[in-house]
This record gives sequence, structure tokens and C-alpha cells, in this order.
Amino acid sequence: MAAYKLFVLPGDGIGPEIMAEVEKITAWLTREGIVGFEIEKGLVGGAAYDVHGVAISDADMARAEAADAVLLAAVGGPKWDGVPYDVRPEAGLLRLRKDMALFANLRPAICYPALADASSLKRELVDGLDLMIVRELTGGVYFGEPKQIIDLGNGQKRAIDTQVYDTYEIERIGRVAFELARKRRNKVTSSEKRNVMKSGVLWNEVITALRAREYPDVELEHQLADALGMQLVRRPKQFDVIVTDNLFGDMLSDVAAMLTGSLGMLPSASLGETNPQTGTRKALYEPVHGSAPDIAGRGVANPIAMIGSLAMALRYSFGLGAIADKIEGAISGVLDKGLRTADIAAGAKETLSTAQMGDAILEELRIAFK
Ligand code: NAD
Repeated sequence: MAAYKLFVLPGDGIGPEIMAEVEKITAWLTREGIVGFEIEKGLVGGAAYDVHGVAISDADMARAEAADAVLLAAVGGPKWDGVPYDVRPEAGLLRLRKDMALFANLRPAICYPALADASSLKRELVDGLDLMIVRELTGGVYFGEPKQIIDLGNGQKRAIDTQVYDTYEIERIGRVAFELARKRRNKVTSSEKRNVMKSGVLWNEVITALRAREYPDVELEHQLADALGMQLVRRPKQFDVIVTDNLFGDMLSDVAAMLTGSLGMLPSASLGETNPQTGTRKALYEPVHGSAPDIAGRGVANPIAMIGSLAMALRYSFGLGAIADKIEGAISGVLDKGLRTADIAAGAKETLSTAQMGDAILEELRIAFK
């Protein structure tokens, strides 16, 4: 059995607690001969700072680069509030994204029917929702130069950020979106502000041309980013894959997250360029939520976003979509039975600890493989 090299970074706060539940599943999959994993563990965030004085060491960075996929839980917490800016816990996450050139951020928003009442929208709008936001992660206004505050000398200052996109950056994120759509419901919605921004005009042209040239079989529509924000809360089930830039993606993906009811449910993936020689790509998988210091150490955190991140790694890094489906099915099955951790407990028969939820998902998985 081939073994996939998984580099695991539990990080801070609830990170180690939820990662332990993933490790139960990887150990079981390996024991059963379903998927082989070679797991290495490293330190990131405050945990790395306490040992190495940096948010991720060079040695762990090299391990991340050499792995088939990196699985990260969460970083940060009040313990490290006073540490120098460049070694603060988040710097570890930013270095991973930058050094591995992870330009595509995939954030699925899935609303499990059993949890539809936890959404801020009416059940009929979100029940069965399954959309994917593909956000450009390494370009745009967060990185464009010049980026500065100038003193105008007359008591006024001027702040400048620059929105810049080159054709290749739009094409490569567009390809990620079209490829994903082909494996889903075959529809891409591209979003920008071409009515007021030149970068939006180019974005629109490049995505339209890319589709005509390489993906004529995929349905493409364009929506202005403000209108799309409105449509996301009006009729979210109209979307399949949404592709957008770094700034709009940052906001729209948070809106989409809230449609699903709970932060503890949402996984994400950040992908780099495909290596033409090997066909593989660098990738980091992590929950959308943070280290939840308010509940850390109590064994009550919800491990579902973390386990969902493992499922994404299987699907997008290892091509094991059928096994990913089984893991997601196991999550759904547990929720259908009314089993809940405290964060999603409204109306629950029983509240489970982190470890009990992990065990319940593993039990469903066992049944699915029988
Ligand atoms: P958070 O996501 O950690 O927590 C927000 C709220 O959601 C808290 O009440 C928390 O208890 C709850 N929550 C989050 N995940 C949960 C889970 N799996 N199960 C049950 N409840 C859960 O965000 P925050 O409180 O704003 O930030 C806390 C720390 O995390 C900060 O240091 C912040 O910088 C860091 N952070 C890290 C990441 C990351 O590692 N990617 C992302 C966001 C925030």
C-alpha cells in the first residue's frame, strides 16, 4: 500500500484536541489497509514560539514543503499577545502560505440538513446548501505595491493600497475553479467590480477567454461582487463554484460561512501550482475557525471542521474522493442521529465531548466500510 506523507501541525488552543480525532481516523484507515499514511508532526504558532522562538522553524518549514499535504489545526491565543510582531503565532501560518506559494483558497460552505436551523437564514434557503468559494490568496490589494501612508505635510495623510492582477494570476485561479466545477455541478460564477475597477475589467476578460478556450463545457456567469453578496443571503443555493479575488473572497467567504450555522463545521484548503512533472501540488488543509482559547483544554471543541479538512486532503491532494465522501457521509450520519458537540447543541438529544464525537464519526466510518 502506497503511503501518503502527511505533515501534521496541531498548533495552539483546541488544536491538539481536534487533531487527536483526525489521528484516530488516519490510524484506523492505515490499520484497515484503506489508505497508508506516514505521519510527521511539527510545531506552529505559539507552540513553536515557546520551543524555538519563531512561529515555525526552518526545519518544520522544510518538512511542510516535502510532505504530500499539510494538515494544520489552529494558531494563537492570549498567552502570546505580547510577543514581537514578526514571530507572533499567525506569522507561522502566513509563512506556510507564502513559502509554499498557496495561491488558491477553497472554502466549501455546506449546510447539513440536520443543522439547518442553526443558520441565520430560514431553513428552506440553506437546507442542503453546497457551494465552494475559490479565493485568490497571494495577489491583489493585500500585496500590491505601492502600499503606504504618506504624510502630505499639511496636516493630512494619504493611505495607498494597490490592487494589481496579472493575466497569469487570474488564469491559474480560474483553472482551479473550472476544474472543481467539472467535478461538482459544472457551474462557475466569477465575481469582480468591472464597473468601477480596471482589475475587474481584466479579471472578467481573462476568465471569459479561459472558459471559451479550455472549459466550454462549464457554465459561466459573472456577478458584480456587491450583487453577489446580496445574492448569497437571498438565494445561496443558486451557486456551485464562486471564483473571486483576494479582497472580495475574504469577505464573501465569511458571509458564506455564516450560512452554515457554525464555525466548528467548516474546513478549508489552500493549494499551490501543479508541478507538471509529478502532477502533484503543495497543499495546506485547515479548519476555518481559530484556536478557541475560551474552551481550550476542556475537551468540548467540535472536531468536525478538522476531520472535514482531512477529507479535503484525501480528495484534492490524493485523488481519493470516494474515501473523502465516506468521511463526509460519516459526519452527516452522526448529525442525523442527533449527536452534537456543545457548539451545535441546540435541540440535541445528547452533548458529546471532542473525543466522543471523534469516536462516533469513526464508528459511522466503520459501518460505511463494512
Ligand atoms: P475562534 O475561531 O478561535 O473562536 C470563535 C468562537 O467560536 C469562540 O467562542 C470559540 O469557542 C468558538 N469555536 C471556534 N472553533 C470551535 C470549535 N471547533 N468547536 C467549538 N467552538 C469553536 O476565533 P477568535 O476567538 O477570534 O480567535 C481566537 C484565537 O485564534 C486568536 O488568537 C486568533 O488570532 C486565532 N485565529 C487563528 C486562526 C487560524 O489558526 N487559522 C483563525 C482565526 C483566529
